[in-house]
Amino acid sequence: CGIVGVIGNGIKAGQILGECLRKLEYRGYDSVGVATLSSGKIRVLKGAGKIDEVDARLCFSCLEGDVGIGHTRWATHGPPTDENAHPHTDCRGRVAVVHNGIIENYIELKEELVRRGHSFRSQTDTEVIAHLIEDNLARGHEPYTAFRETVLRLKGSYALAVLISDTPDRIYFARRHSPLVIGVGDKLVFLASDIPAFLEYTRKVIPIHDGELGYASQSTIVIENIKGEAISPEGRVIFVDW
Ligand code: GLU
Repeated sequence: CGIVGVIGNGIKAGQILGECLRKLEYRGYDSVGVATLSSGKIRVLKGAGKIDEVDARLCFSCLEGDVGIGHTRWATHGPPTDENAHPHTDCRGRVAVVHNGIIENYIELKEELVRRGHSFRSQTDTEVIAHLIEDNLARGHEPYTAFRETVLRLKGSYALAVLISDTPDRIYFARRHSPLVIGVGDKLVFLASDIPAFLEYTRKVIPIHDGELGYASQSTIVIENIKGEAISPEGRVIFVDW
């Protein structure tokens, strides 16, 4: 029910994601999880339950990496179990996805992916996204194209934050009928469902509109609409007075 992402040279992503997720608790949730990317490897910690219990059990701040994504889940497809908690990964662990919303065509996509040899670990609608990206990477697409082609196939609602191990300096994002904002700090960039997630770090906000997608790195933010037309992030900046 809430997504977050953070990227910045030398930051402790696991710890910051834990802080951000606590700020999104008011949105309600039944499970929580984080993934970071470090030395080309994605590591995931997730489980059903309240953030303090899950964090005490798994230790989010112990995760290495200066880029990561996190999620508080309000289950819509599949019960609140450890396996169904986000982030979800592909078969090889090269892709991690957090998602807020509902993928309406997930059954059709899942059937297609199972026929193509993918095996699924959760009962969520979300997991198809990780496998679709993996499939597009395997077809030879570069990571952003693999992400973009995937988003174009999704029906329903989504705010997405995605890690791909080939590009450790990026968090991919997309939005349709679920809220998503970017927060630009001094040495770090955030993605989040809502501004309170990162207010402690920055008040400089770039709202993402429906139908937009792109990626954020520490130094660059790329935003496009669904037709592939570039959107200037600078033209969108607002300073929130909370
Ligand atoms: N539909 C997804 C799930 O059930 C995401 C739910 C949410 O927005 O938290 O896992």
